[in-house]
Amino acid sequence: MSKQENIDSSFRPIVGIDLGTTNSSVAFIQSGKPHIIPGPKGEKLTPSVVLIDPNEKVVVGEDAQAALIAMPERSIAAVKRQMGEQTSIKLGASFYSPEEISGMILEKLRGYVDKQLGEGEKEAVITVPAYFTDEQRRATKKAGELAGFAVERIINEPTAAALAFGFQHLDEDRHLLVYDLGGGTFDVSIVEMMDGILEVKASTGNNRLGGEDFDWLLVDWFAEKMIEQFAIDPRTDVRAKAVLKEEAEKVKKQLSEQDVVEVALPVVMMKEGKPLGLYTEVTKDQFVALIEPLLQETMDKISQILADTKLHVEEIDDILLVGGSSRIPRIHELIQDYFHKQPRSDVNPDEAVALGAAVQAGLKSGSLAKSGLIVTDVAPFSMGVAVVKETWGTKFRPGAFKAIIPRNTTIPVTRTETFGTVAPNQTEVMIEVYQGENEWVKDNHFLNEFLLKGIPPGPAGNEAVEVTFRYNLNGILEVTAKSVSTGESMTVTIQDSLDRSSEEAFQTSLEKVEASHSDRDEGDEEQIDLFDFLEEGDFDTEDEAEEDYGDLIEEATSLKERCEQALVNTTSKTEQKQLREVLSRIDDAIKAEDDAALDKAIEQAMDVLIDLDF
Ligand code: AMP
Repeated sequence: MSKQENIDSSFRPIVGIDLGTTNSSVAFIQSGKPHIIPGPKGEKLTPSVVLIDPNEKVVVGEDAQAALIAMPERSIAAVKRQMGEQTSIKLGASFYSPEEISGMILEKLRGYVDKQLGEGEKEAVITVPAYFTDEQRRATKKAGELAGFAVERIINEPTAAALAFGFQHLDEDRHLLVYDLGGGTFDVSIVEMMDGILEVKASTGNNRLGGEDFDWLLVDWFAEKMIEQFAIDPRTDVRAKAVLKEEAEKVKKQLSEQDVVEVALPVVMMKEGKPLGLYTEVTKDQFVALIEPLLQETMDKISQILADTKLHVEEIDDILLVGGSSRIPRIHELIQDYFHKQPRSDVNPDEAVALGAAVQAGLKSGSLAKSGLIVTDVAPFSMGVAVVKETWGTKFRPGAFKAIIPRNTTIPVTRTETFGTVAPNQTEVMIEVYQGENEWVKDNHFLNEFLLKGIPPGPAGNEAVEVTFRYNLNGILEVTAKSVSTGESMTVTIQDSLDRSSEEAFQTSLEKVEASHSDRDEGDEEQIDLFDFLEEGDFDTEDEAEEDYGDLIEEATSLKERCEQALVNTTSKTEQKQLREVLSRIDDAIKAEDDAALDKAIEQAMDVLIDLDF
C-alpha cells in the first residue's frame, strides 16, 4: 500500500503541530482519528533543540540535544521563550532570529510529514500558549511559513487539548478545566462542552512559567552547593551551566517517580587543571520547597479563572492535565486538594496538544466535518489604547488604559470606540496599543503604536477618531484608526506597522532555514521610529509635562486667540465673563513668567472652550 492510500483522498490534509518549548510533535487525521506522525525512529516527540554543527549544517532534535553540553555555543534549547523578541541569536558563525530557529524545528517535522503523506505543499494548524502575545503569535506563524507550511490557523494549546478530549467525549455535557504546564509556559482554560460544542469560557496564564524555571531553580541550588565547597560559581562557565541544567532536568523528572535522587557528577568544571564535581542528594520535599511559589501562582490563576467565569469549584466536572510538567506529583496533590477530585488521566499530557491541533485541522479540511464538533475560543487578555484620563474634574492625565476588547471576549471579534481630540487644533494622534488588565498603560504590555494624521484643526473635543480592533481566530490583532469628520478617512492597520519584514528579508530567512549556510546576518529588521513624528497633538506620553516654557507660551497664545474669537461670537454675558477671566489669567501668568500658573490657566481656558462648545 502506498503512503497516499492511508489518507481519504477527497480531503486536503492539514497537519496539526505542537511547537513546544521542550518537545514538538505533529499529528494528522487518519481514518477519522488524530494520530501522531512519528520520526524515523518511531519517536512521537522531537526535542525542540537546534544545533548548527561545525560544518554549519542544521541539526534538529535528539542529536542536537546531545550537543547542548558538547557545543553550547552552537546549540540552543527552549527558543520558544524568545519568540516575538527582536533578538539575534548567535549559533556557530551566524546569527538567527527566534522564528528562524523555530522554523528549523518545524522544517524537521515537515520532513516526517512529507515521508508519511508525500512531498508537496502542506498546510498546518500550529498551537501556541493561550497567553502568547500578538508578537509571539506572529513570530510562530512566520516560523511555520519559513518551514514551508501554509499556516491555516494558530490555535491555543489548552483549546487544542480540550479538542482532543472533546473529540473522544462528544456526547458529554460538562465543564472542563485544562491545566497546561509545559516547559516554558502555563495556561489554564475553562471549557464548556455541550452537544458537541466546545466553548472556551475563559483563559489565563503566564507565558514565562514552566518546567524550565524548575530546572533553573535546581541549577541555582546545585551552584550554591559548589560555591560552599569550592568558592566558585559554576554558572559563570557556559559548559558547567549546561552540565548542571541537564542534570537538573533529569533529577526533576526522577523526583516525579521517587522520593530522593542521588547526584554524582565527577566533572562539572575544571579549575587549575583539576576537576570540580558535585555529589549530593535531592529529596522530593526539597525540590517541592523550591518550586512551591511557582506552583502556588498556577493555583492562584485557577482561582482567578473561576472568579472570571463565576463558576464554583464543584461545577468543574473534569480537570485535564496537559504538558510535561503536569506530571509532577505535587501538582496532582494541589489539584486534588482544591477540587476534591482526581484529574483525568485518559489523555496523554505530551500528545494532547498535537492531537487536538490535528482535530482542528480535520475540522478545517473537512475530514471531520461529520463529527459535528464546533469550537469557540476567547481573547485571554484585554486589548486597548492609551488615553488621557480626566481626574478631579479638570485635570487631565495621559497614559490611562482604555480596553476596547475586554479579556475573555469570544473571538473573532470586532469592536469600535470613538475618541475626541484633547487639544485645540490637534491634527494628529498617536494610537498606542496595549494588552493587559491594569488601569495605566505603563503596567500593561505594549504592542505597537502608529500616528494618525490629517485630523482637521478645530476646538478640543470637536474632532472624533474612530479606533477599531479586530481580533481574529488566530489571536492576531488588527487596529484601524480613522478621523471621522474628513470623510476621506485615513486608515492605518497595526499589522502594516508591525509587518516590517519585507519579502526580501523573508527570503533571506527562508534560505537560512532551508539550507546549511554560513552567511552572517545581524538582524534585517528596519526600525521605524514613529516617535520621530511626535508633535504637540500627541497627549499619550507621560513626559509631556516637561514641555519647555517657549512651547507653553505658544500654546497660550493660540488659546488666547481662540478665546478672543469666542468673545466676539458669543452674546451671553456669563460666557463673556468666563472667557475674560481665563484671558486675564493667561496674561497675568505670562507677565509674571510663572509657568505653573500658565499651565493651569491653559487648562482652564481649554475647559471653558470645551464647556462653551467653541
Ligand atoms: P512540554 O513543553 O509539554 O513538552 O513539557 C516539557 C516540560 O515537562 C519540560 O520542562 C520537562 O522537563 C517536563 N517534564 C517532562 N516529564 C516530566 C516529569 N516526569 N516530571 C516533571 N517534569 C517533566
